[in-house]
Amino acid sequence: LSDRLSKAMRKISGQGKLTEKNMNDMLKEVRMSLLEADVNYDVVKNFVADVKEKALGQEVMESLNPSQMVVKIVHDEVQTLLGEEDAQIHFKKQGMTTIMMVGLQGTGKTTASAKIAKYCKEKLKKRVLLVACDVVRPAAIEQLQTLGKEIDVEVFSLGANVNAVQTARQALDYANDRQKDLVIFDTAGRLHIDEALMQELSDMKALVQPDEILLTVDAMTGQDIVTVAKDFNEQLSITGLVVTKLDGDARGGGLLSVRSITQVPVLFVSNGEKVDDLEAFHPDRMADRILGMGDVMTLVEQAQERLDMEVQEKTAKRMQEGIFTFNDMLDQFGQVKKMGSIQNMMKMVPGLNKLARNMDTDVVDSEMKRSEAIIQSMTPYERDHPEVLKASRKNRIAKGSGVKVADVNKLIKQLEQMQSMTRMMSSGRMPNMSALQNM
Ligand code: GDP
Ligand code: MG
Repeated sequence: LSDRLSKAMRKISGQGKLTEKNMNDMLKEVRMSLLEADVNYDVVKNFVADVKEKALGQEVMESLNPSQMVVKIVHDEVQTLLGEEDAQIHFKKQGMTTIMMVGLQGTGKTTASAKIAKYCKEKLKKRVLLVACDVVRPAAIEQLQTLGKEIDVEVFSLGANVNAVQTARQALDYANDRQKDLVIFDTAGRLHIDEALMQELSDMKALVQPDEILLTVDAMTGQDIVTVAKDFNEQLSITGLVVTKLDGDARGGGLLSVRSITQVPVLFVSNGEKVDDLEAFHPDRMADRILGMGDVMTLVEQAQERLDMEVQEKTAKRMQEGIFTFNDMLDQFGQVKKMGSIQNMMKMVPGLNKLARNMDTDVVDSEMKRSEAIIQSMTPYERDHPEVLKASRKNRIAKGSGVKVADVNKLIKQLEQMQSMTRMMSSGRMPNMSALQNM
């Protein structure tokens, strides 16, 4: 929590009951916190009023820890405002899909165009064409061409002397002839919105009739984002948002304002200068960030960097040689613990995300603790030579760790599974996912 919020929480958590008075105190801090995060003033005002209404209407009010309740309502409300989790590009069922990227200069349109192109090409197997329609900024065309080369996606350009609409027209023919699935138009920006730019974009829109018009929203910009979003939306009816520069330390509250104005979903999050720095949008994490709740996932990611590289490398090397013992297992548990929980770790793996959410973490964590206790009751020699574990040793280990012999057997079985997987990997055959999930 941000200082402000946590102080307010501490103050009223001693008071037992949520009253209108202490809730107002709390909401005052919420308001300040949101304003500090660059959320637009009007948005904040409405938001706080909504939260208050919700909180007062809660029957559970008397029994819940009041500060927790307000924070939960606030968090849920922010998350709702931020919109859906799994928004996707609307691809045409048949034929060519077109996307126009729009936004102010420097917000990351060109970079995002290339990132999205790469994503669609690699993950969705689309034949993509990038079109350089920024003929205003010097070197804008070269920038896109360089990116295109890097991601191996064709870039269409007629040079800086042909205007954007002309370029777009010919690009459409070109893409049609070559049966492209997706055409992404990178457009020009300005430092401020002006008539000429809006006219150009409107003309392009009329010609291309894009399936998506995506506005890039720079997480670092402050209050003026509201006017920008309003203008772009009024003139072009944008269909989606791409939040950029989330790798910076801005809280990104501007997004809340943009969402409340446009009501269109966030399709992607851009968090770095490299072409792979593109992520799906997670409203829950974003809500944490905006409220200053220390973005749990950011912490997790930092923790991952701190992972003991030596241990990892050691294990990896041994695994390559087909070796996996209880000591390696212990090391892995240690790594998981550094990440907070196995669930946090799974959340970072695309595809395991849903699984992680539905998983009973307490069960998994307590099972891990038990396994750890069992291994700790083994002698160092036993840990590296599990084959010596016969009945009497198993008995001793079970007693020492306070479990049943059956539990020891189960763990040995798991180790054997890991060992055979390791051997498969070292011989170049990857285990399939179902084998992994049974672990
Ligand atoms: P455009 O003018 O809207 O096309 O913006 P560009 O794509 O040229 O990006 C402007 C600058 O911001 C470039 O230096 C990019 O490398 C940088 N940039 C774009 N997206 C990100 C991002 O997500 N994170 C960071 N750190 N930099 C970014
Ligand atoms: Mg550009």
